[in-house]
Amino acid sequence: MRETVTPTHCPYCALQCGMNLTPAPDGRGVVVSERTEFPVNRGALCGKGRTAPAVLAAGVRLTSPLVRDEGGALVPASWEEALGRVGRGLGGIRDTYGADAVGVFGGGGLTNEKAYALGKFARVALGTSQIDYNGRFCMSSAAAAGNLAFGLDRGLPFPLEDIPRTGCVILVGSNPAETMPPSLRYFTELRENGGTLIVVDPRRTKTAEHADLHLAPRPGTDLALALGLLHLVVAEGRTDEAYIRERTGGWEETRAAAMAHWPEYVERITGVPVPQLREAVRLFCEPEAAMVLTARGPEQQSKGTDTVGAWINLCLATGRAGRPLSGYGCLTGQGNGQGGREHGQKADQLPGYRKLTDPAARAHVAGVWGVDPDTLPGPGRSAYELLDALGTDIRALLLMGSNPVVSAPRAAHIEGRIRSLDFLAVCDVVLSETAALADVVLPVTQWAEETGTTTSLEGRVLLRRRAITPPEGVRSDLEVMHELAARLGRDGENLEKKFPTDPEEVFEELRRASAGGPADYSGITYRRLAEESGVFWPCPADASGPHPGTPRLFLDRFATGDGRARFVPVSHRAAAEEPDEAYPVLLTTGRVVAQYQSGAQTRRVDELNAAAPGPFVELHPRLAERIGVAEGEPVAVVSRRGRAVAPARITTAIRPDTVFMPFHWAGEGRANTLTNPALDPTSRMPEFKACAVRLEAVEAGQPTPTALQAAATAAYSVPPSP
Ligand code: SF4
Repeated sequence: MRETVTPTHCPYCALQCGMNLTPAPDGRGVVVSERTEFPVNRGALCGKGRTAPAVLAAGVRLTSPLVRDEGGALVPASWEEALGRVGRGLGGIRDTYGADAVGVFGGGGLTNEKAYALGKFARVALGTSQIDYNGRFCMSSAAAAGNLAFGLDRGLPFPLEDIPRTGCVILVGSNPAETMPPSLRYFTELRENGGTLIVVDPRRTKTAEHADLHLAPRPGTDLALALGLLHLVVAEGRTDEAYIRERTGGWEETRAAAMAHWPEYVERITGVPVPQLREAVRLFCEPEAAMVLTARGPEQQSKGTDTVGAWINLCLATGRAGRPLSGYGCLTGQGNGQGGREHGQKADQLPGYRKLTDPAARAHVAGVWGVDPDTLPGPGRSAYELLDALGTDIRALLLMGSNPVVSAPRAAHIEGRIRSLDFLAVCDVVLSETAALADVVLPVTQWAEETGTTTSLEGRVLLRRRAITPPEGVRSDLEVMHELAARLGRDGENLEKKFPTDPEEVFEELRRASAGGPADYSGITYRRLAEESGVFWPCPADASGPHPGTPRLFLDRFATGDGRARFVPVSHRAAAEEPDEAYPVLLTTGRVVAQYQSGAQTRRVDELNAAAPGPFVELHPRLAERIGVAEGEPVAVVSRRGRAVAPARITTAIRPDTVFMPFHWAGEGRANTLTNPALDPTSRMPEFKACAVRLEAVEAGQPTPTALQAAATAAYSVPPSP
């Protein structure tokens, strides 16, 4: 018998590594193997991708709907009963309190088809403006800054393959050695080719160990750092005056702002010595081409848009944007973080990256959807603001592909808000910490069990293919929306007809809805995606033949009205919460290689748990000595929002004024219990990367790390299927 090999992509991060799947010999699940012809990862996978099939197993994932019984327990139920309850729960609140009393919360892991359908579902089936998604927590500051400067936001405006051929890369607040290990080869090849790598990170991460120069600013000060570098660029006469004149606007104001940031002043703010600033400028400016790549470090701040803008200004002043092998890019995090932010699950957005406030965009999309443009609601609240309003004017929530009980800032407060809802429905693969609070949990298909498209951090649209038949008892998110629409239609309007269940049919509609928009997918088809290694948007439908897609943006002009990039003048300001006497240390948060985001899936994989069994507090030996904590002993981290406890991990790789916690775990070690929801005024992104805390040794009788791990593991138990 011939083995069926399905070429597809990883379910996790935005690198979207190619992989092959074959049915497992015992008939249960799939086996992952190398897909060497996919150019981005050339067969390489990290442990998360390799072990992804473990989450397909019964006993790990949900295989039956769950409803809350009269005693308050979640118990198995039929789909008919569960869907009926959700229809009545959402519809009843809509009809009693108005459409905006129902919220919808999506995720950056949803396929393009699901993200598109969810935005449409909120605005057409429910009529609510209250929709946003967890991608707001991930890279919305880079998106906002990119739109301001270039008139368009696409994570990387060039393919990853350009990185080894440029002269210098400044990697700001990014740790690809842990977050997307197969991508590290692009940076090692850069160095092998004679280029240099500068890493900006408060921690000496695994990525920083590969750098030619590591700058370790205090968390929340990389805006000042970028301004200091721009100051030196100007002072040393390294600006590209012809480029500034011909391809940009707004330089003089930006120049003046940068000149107020003297290197010595910047050293005082950031802790980065002036000679290192000068060395960074030399390495960045001497080669013909160079890049700046940012990730969550500069973005997850209450001044994230300005911080990314400052790095873009550095690129523009030196002529390093919209030129071959030069540019600014954002390393998007979630699997479909890019596509998920283009097709309408964002509060202010319609498909194709159109604006909900634009009358022409409303008319176009309403035409595709077959509704009156006047019936489309306006923009709603951003993710944190939406979650913070739960239980107040938002009384019911439909949540898909997200786990805010672990991933939201000020998580204990948000957990309380979720608990105060009148009705919560969650669609998920596993019983996440948030799903465990739901009135109804709908088990949905995942990754290898369904077909759909994602858009990688390069703006490369990819086809994920179904490799195995899903277990009985689960349905796809598209089927769920179809069924719920049938229950939410008024006066026999057959609303479900607007919500097809076939992913390709949804994609065909998405193509039409995106046509002419900034993220134009109209020239992309499933057939093309099956034959090619992805297609870069924009890819408009072209009557004269297939459009080749656009791997490299801005080479001729930027996407602004006059084709010029915009300098945006910015100045340093402090984090929303600076250390003081009561909370003298800075906390920054991030990821570890063996876990992914809120850990809802990866914490269910034995191999990954063995590698990363639980949370920890990384701190410098001097700080550990001051509070009397030894390696492995529990330490309490306390902020104005709560307290978390985890074992100490003592290392000189972190600044003595800073501690680090990974955010993948629930329970006592939940890092987001501590984080500050202060929002960036433009992107509405919370400040995960810097808040003030104090540390305390944990006294006898308080939870130990072992007890914490046992409690977290117990929380994973899945109710039996009927
Ligand atoms: Fe999957 Fe990302 Fe790992 Fe690649 S790097 S295997 S996409 S988690």
